[in-house]
Amino acid sequence: MKIGIIGAGLSGLTCCWYLKKNGINDITIFESSDRVGGKLTTDRIDGFQLDRGFQVLLPAYPETKKVLDYDKLQLQRFPKGSLIYKNGKQIPFYDPENGFTALFKTVVKGPGTFMDKLILLKLKFTLSRLSVEDIFNSKKTISSLSYLRKLGFSERIIEDFWIPFYQGVFLENSLETDSKMLQFTFKMFAEAGAAVPKDGMAAIPNQLLDYIGSDKIRYNAKVEHFDNKSITTSEGEKESFDIVVLACNMRNTTAYQNVTNKYFEAEKLPIDTKHVILNANQNRIINNVVLISHVAPSYSQNGKYLISVSANGIHTKTDDFLIDLKSIFGLEVANWNLLKSYTIKEALPKINFENEYKPRSTEGVFYCGDYLLQGSINGAMESGRSVAEAIMKEIKI
Ligand SMILES: Cc1cc2nc3c(=O)[nH]c(=O)nc-3n(C[C@H](O)[C@H](O)[C@H](O)COP(=O)(O)OP(=O)(O)OC[C@H]3O[C@@H](n4cnc5c(N)ncnc54)[C@H](O)[C@@H]3O)c2cc1C
Repeated sequence: MKIGIIGAGLSGLTCCWYLKKNGINDITIFESSDRVGGKLTTDRIDGFQLDRGFQVLLPAYPETKKVLDYDKLQLQRFPKGSLIYKNGKQIPFYDPENGFTALFKTVVKGPGTFMDKLILLKLKFTLSRLSVEDIFNSKKTISSLSYLRKLGFSERIIEDFWIPFYQGVFLENSLETDSKMLQFTFKMFAEAGAAVPKDGMAAIPNQLLDYIGSDKIRYNAKVEHFDNKSITTSEGEKESFDIVVLACNMRNTTAYQNVTNKYFEAEKLPIDTKHVILNANQNRIINNVVLISHVAPSYSQNGKYLISVSANGIHTKTDDFLIDLKSIFGLEVANWNLLKSYTIKEALPKINFENEYKPRSTEGVFYCGDYLLQGSINGAMESGRSVAEAIMKEIKI
């Protein structure tokens, strides 16, 4: 049984991981770039580790729990909650799990009303009792913003917390993303917070590669054509397979959100916090600032601090970022040095949850990728597992 997979992103690697686990070994993965991981990539520059686009693993993800060895990834965890900046003021919004001081600060100075905090507790409790399947199998389709309003949150907490926080998660500014994604991610954040691996987000695909074996990957092999029995590269090499899996959006069937992520180096921290810093100012460009090497010291090996700053959309001017950063941290931002700017087109797919995902098409090609299920590490891995299971069913393993 000879299997060809197009794309060595998380979905293609996960599909291969499950096939190998079930004794299928004759697999070739065609990857157009020179590395595995696709959107999960980490660059090493001047003693810093830079993930291409600020990303986090939510350790509660059901799919990552099935496959990844978290101990080996040496997860560096963020404290739950956020620190919000608005009109020159800090608004702490910390999870009570962070201790009594965190709870006290949030109750006294946190965003929104007392009623908002009760609604939040109720939401946390309701979601803790729903399974991930319950969330995604629900027939209701409503935007995340409408969902928050329907739950009864005040406009103040929506503006000060929910919009800035979820702008950074969905990579879009109006929270039009289906509320199923809000329910799912909020449940995941509440259960186990967020983390990055010690060696950067690329450590996730690299762990899958360690099990799969590098011999299965054909690097710099861009696929030009395929059908259910063959794959042809841009070099014109055609190879026959019993089964073909498309693990990338080669046919460009989806619209995407774009994001710009700039990394700065600084001699000192603007503030001593490991929380994600949210920008809730009016007319903002940047959504969030993360003192990433303060959370994960392995991200800087040269004694300086690494700071990640993200804004939705494509922004070429660093000055636009600096104006926002100065409004938050003041003039010391002038001492920060821009290390690298990533403008990421096609970051997160816009998903229509009314479309049913089928791992196998009528022409017999198998399909996986985040764009078919959910724009997340979990969605990419779930689709890869679903394809592997569909293949095993077809060949009766
Ligand atoms: C900026 C950003 C922030 C994100 N934040 C988070 C987050 O915080 N948490 C989270 O859970 N998820 C996050 N995600 C989403 C997550 O990274 C993706 O959902 C996941 O990595 C997608 O995996 P994939 O295999 O579906 O696709 P991809 O990663 O796109 O993999 C596709 C692979 O196919 C290859 N390929 C493409 N065309 C061809 C061809 N013609 N021939 C051969 N190979 C080809 C590509 O090079 C690539 O390696 C974020 C994504 C981005 C970009």
